[in-house]
Amino acid sequence: MRYNDDKLRKVIFVKQYPVDTNKIKDDLYLAVNGAWLKEAKIPADKPATGGFFDLADNIEKTLMSDFEEFLNGKAHTDDPYLREFLKYYRLASDFDKREKLGFTPAKPFLKQIEELKDLKDWETKLPALTLAGYPSPFPISVEPDMKNTKAYALYADVASLILPDKTYYEEGNQQAPALLEIYRQMMTKLFALAGYEAEFAQKTITEALAFDRSLAPHQKDSTERADYTKQYNPYTFADFTAFSSHIDLKTYIKALVKTDDIDKVIVTEPKYYQALDEILTEQTFANFKSWLLVKSLRAISHYLTDEARIVSGQYARALSGSKEAMKPQKAAYYLASEQFDQVVGLYYAHKYFGPKAKADVHQMVTKMIAVYQKRLKANTWLSQATKEKAILKLSTLGINVGYPDELHYLYKKFIVDEDKDLVANDLNFTKITLSDHYSRLKKEVDRTRWAMPAHMVNAYYNPSFNIIVFPAAILQAPFYSLNQKASENFGGIGAVIAHEISHAFDNNGAKFDEFGNLKNWWTKDDLNAFEKLAQAMIEQFDGLQTEAGKVNGKLVVSENIADAGGLSCALEAAKEDPQADIAAFFINWARIWGTKASLERQKLLLAIDVHSPHVLRANVQPKNLADFYTTFNVQPGDGMWLDEDKRVNIW
Ligand SMILES: [Zn+2]
Repeated sequence: MRYNDDKLRKVIFVKQYPVDTNKIKDDLYLAVNGAWLKEAKIPADKPATGGFFDLADNIEKTLMSDFEEFLNGKAHTDDPYLREFLKYYRLASDFDKREKLGFTPAKPFLKQIEELKDLKDWETKLPALTLAGYPSPFPISVEPDMKNTKAYALYADVASLILPDKTYYEEGNQQAPALLEIYRQMMTKLFALAGYEAEFAQKTITEALAFDRSLAPHQKDSTERADYTKQYNPYTFADFTAFSSHIDLKTYIKALVKTDDIDKVIVTEPKYYQALDEILTEQTFANFKSWLLVKSLRAISHYLTDEARIVSGQYARALSGSKEAMKPQKAAYYLASEQFDQVVGLYYAHKYFGPKAKADVHQMVTKMIAVYQKRLKANTWLSQATKEKAILKLSTLGINVGYPDELHYLYKKFIVDEDKDLVANDLNFTKITLSDHYSRLKKEVDRTRWAMPAHMVNAYYNPSFNIIVFPAAILQAPFYSLNQKASENFGGIGAVIAHEISHAFDNNGAKFDEFGNLKNWWTKDDLNAFEKLAQAMIEQFDGLQTEAGKVNGKLVVSENIADAGGLSCALEAAKEDPQADIAAFFINWARIWGTKASLERQKLLLAIDVHSPHVLRANVQPKNLADFYTTFNVQPGDGMWLDEDKRVNIW
């Protein structure tokens, strides 16, 4: 890519780290990233550094510098939405004003919780509180119906816990006591800053933690949640509202979605709702109210004085292993750009990516789909009937590259009132967003909205829409560059593209049809064969040791199936090139995963993330491919050797 690609590259890869080619046979990841790992330093305000993180850090620098020019009048924009963003960014950056206001802007928000008298009182105010962004133990949302994705349905989910996952609450968990202690210290400081009595603060925190703990046993853990089609448990509206004898769910939901015409509610975790009647009662109300206050205080502190902002991030830093809070200006940049993420994304994409790059990458995606189709046609373990269905699904896959064509209408409603403070503006945006969210139940499903902004270094597959999305930010070196060999691009962005395509056929995605509806299109035998292969992938990763602990094969199976499919498809595409350099292909594959992360972050991800640790993503999948062995002459006894009967090939 000629367009500005170099401008972005310059800062990131100023130094070329040599590959230790002799070491590849034993450890591909270390051979490629070892020299870099020796020197790499994790920024004090971040939990990790390397491939994905370097790109994100660079975008942060670029955008912060651009926006500073707007703020101090050196640059000008006529884009009305960007101007609203800049107004909001200015408010977020006005630390003198934030300091002067102290906790005053938060008082009315917190008072609404403090004044709750009993469960009845909360129930009466619940629709308004929900629309104002307060948490609830039974979060209701409006999302596409998994079995008919043209229509929206009501979903009932579970409250997110203070600890990362229910397993942290189980006896013998090594990390929970220290984490809870940090949470308590953080909340103690925030209550003091907000002017509450110390005794009240201690009582409130203790009650809040007790309530949180009471939710844990009824929830699924991360591994159960990773099997996400099991979220689909429809209940008639009458059956759903019978889950609580203390709360009138019927009146609440009707008020929330402003319609009486409700036929069903999809319950993501029925076991939790079966316990709802004991979780939330007049007897547990005191603990619940404290939980509400603690959660609300922590959330709003982020928008107040700099001290409050720093303290409110203490627990998150303990989880991620970031050593320091971000500097005020950077924190303001993230606060404002998260609210206006698609506006910022479009600014980034139009300036640094553009329509030519969009067309180029779109073509590359089309090429990868063609290779994928060829592979499906040549598949040896599927029957003709299932094969045809898979090809049909592939041929209807929607492709989104770079940035959305249009800004979502919601951003047009985000008008900043500069006479009001940051908190008032934020609460207003929350209200606008939530009113829009709940009003869409009977409307047509909007398939054009992107779940990620263009400046995010990531990509995704949405099974309900059968679409793949590649934001502009990931389309840079080492993933993709005209200055790299074609084989390197295939080992980078090619494998990422094919990874996302493979999600249409991973253990979850395979359960959705070409329209994105949850529907079986497999013959019984084919499904059995697929499940056996998925099981082999679970076993290949299960128990693998990393410096932070062991991998849970079941938690990470869907991503590993996508990685395996992605790498083998990208390899085939690379081999079609007459100048193919397969060594460069595998080396760049390992390069994109180069990461140094805090031990805390690694432990957290091992417990809750559906992706395998980067070092394993780099090293395990190549072992499944015959070309890796021939390219590097890997022999039995070498670290990268895997016996043929242990290799797993699915797509
Ligand atoms: Zn994935």
